[in-house]
Amino acid sequence: MRGPKGDAYNQAHKRVVDQDEAVGHAVRATYMYSAMADVAALTGDKRYLAAIDALWNDVVSKKLYITGGIGATGNGEAFGQPFELPNMSAYAETCAAIANVYWNQRMFLLHGDAKYVDVLERTLYNGLLAGVSLSGDHFFYPNPLASMGQHQRGAWFACACCISNMTRFMASVPGYVYAQNANDLYVNLFMTSTSAVQLPTGKVSLAQQTNYPWDGQLDLAVNPAKRQDFTLRVRIPGWAQQQPTPGGLYRFVDDTPQPIALRLNGQPVAYTLDHGYAVLNRRWQKGDHVTLTLPMAAEQVVARAEVRDDRGKFAWQRGPLVYCLEGPDNANGLVQNITVDQKAPVEIVYQDGLLNGLDVLKASGAGTHRQLGSIQLLTTPQAVQAIPYYAWANRGPSDMTVWVPYEMAAARPQPAPTVASRSTASSSLKSTRTLKALADQYDPANSQDASYPYLHWWPKKNTTEFVQYDFAEPATVSESRVYWFDDGPWGGCRIPASYKVYYQQDGQWLPVKNTTPYTITKDAYNTVTFEPVRTTALKLEVQLPVDNAAGIHEWAVQ
Ligand SMILES: [Zn+2]
Repeated sequence: MRGPKGDAYNQAHKRVVDQDEAVGHAVRATYMYSAMADVAALTGDKRYLAAIDALWNDVVSKKLYITGGIGATGNGEAFGQPFELPNMSAYAETCAAIANVYWNQRMFLLHGDAKYVDVLERTLYNGLLAGVSLSGDHFFYPNPLASMGQHQRGAWFACACCISNMTRFMASVPGYVYAQNANDLYVNLFMTSTSAVQLPTGKVSLAQQTNYPWDGQLDLAVNPAKRQDFTLRVRIPGWAQQQPTPGGLYRFVDDTPQPIALRLNGQPVAYTLDHGYAVLNRRWQKGDHVTLTLPMAAEQVVARAEVRDDRGKFAWQRGPLVYCLEGPDNANGLVQNITVDQKAPVEIVYQDGLLNGLDVLKASGAGTHRQLGSIQLLTTPQAVQAIPYYAWANRGPSDMTVWVPYEMAAARPQPAPTVASRSTASSSLKSTRTLKALADQYDPANSQDASYPYLHWWPKKNTTEFVQYDFAEPATVSESRVYWFDDGPWGGCRIPASYKVYYQQDGQWLPVKNTTPYTITKDAYNTVTFEPVRTTALKLEVQLPVDNAAGIHEWAVQ
């Protein structure tokens, strides 16, 4: 598709050289930006150069997740508005993360600046790597930064772009470790490896020995075929200089400079820092060793205040790894209700048996809980554990969050033990993924609010469906409150045509005798009261509209 005057969806709204804001489908966009960076590099065309720099600045300063993910919204698989970076509904397609690596690699090749490799590395270790399971055979399409268990990797999708893309990408990773420009040799990524590079002055063998990203120690053996002059440029990551991303979208809470040590043959060496690289220009010979020691403290990252979903929260990062809280490591399998003080000390503990072996972060925090009959929240101290984000969702469906509230107002309290929340929920849907949404006690902003889970019957229409609560023990109930999901006019769900409440007695479903009328309205709870019944199960029978599906945000029972 070629612009101008086409759709922003496929970046055909303007001539490419007139584009300065990342819009539309994120994968298509970043593939095109990769090509634009190549055109700029190969032709030196200043219009391309100006456009591609503006586009990159727009993404890193306004549209980049802390995980390196891009493309905030599932609506058009697209970039969102500036600072629109929702966590639970984040799209951040695996393909878009891969494309972000492609693009930043080309921006690096164009400009020779380490800031592009900073974005590349962040994406590689976090938003991209989370796209594949530890077993290597299950894949995410979107990569959310928060979950209530509704997200799971799949073995295959109808649209399987991310799966084949991941397979292709993984094989290309060695190609990102080094780069060369005349007699400048760039060390971009740190991983145990051996390489051979042909410089104009001769051949150089390189061997990296490191346990990165678990520790910040890198040993690089530099073995030229003969004594030769060249410039070694060793990347000093932005995160090691207290700058998590270029562009100021994120910052470390503690910006105290941390020690970085560079040694040559065991001796500290003076170096200049140029475009993010420690520059070592000398005559190299066989047996030379460069040793880099990077600071590996667990840092707290905060986002700019414009990012609404990250307010009152921090994310943990250690080295290039972004961490998350996941249900199996935390009390009651819940993490949305956790708060951690910004001054809480963090312990880094290697756990051999966990998720193929990894460093976890441990801290003291608190859990917030709703109570019955009171709006007062209950707070209890608890131990909090974080794992690297890439390793999440390898232990079944679970709660997860990258952003950790440090203010109670930013946390989502554990639901109160109501009849509904203590019930076993079921429905006419095959999938059980969204059942938890029914009694999670999260009130939506309105019927079309998609930021938190809801249950829906799309693409069904004109059928009779149900949701059901089987109570933990017999209870007397006399009120039902339901909040409908309705994503009109663009989505496929509307408020239902009608609905009815049934209760179970002697294995039979009987309609309740309502004492107020059934109402069906958008953007509010629909309450119906009925003559009290003592029962063990309640059912909501929902008649879908003729031309649409319907859905439910919340169903409360009294
Ligand atoms: Zn994809």
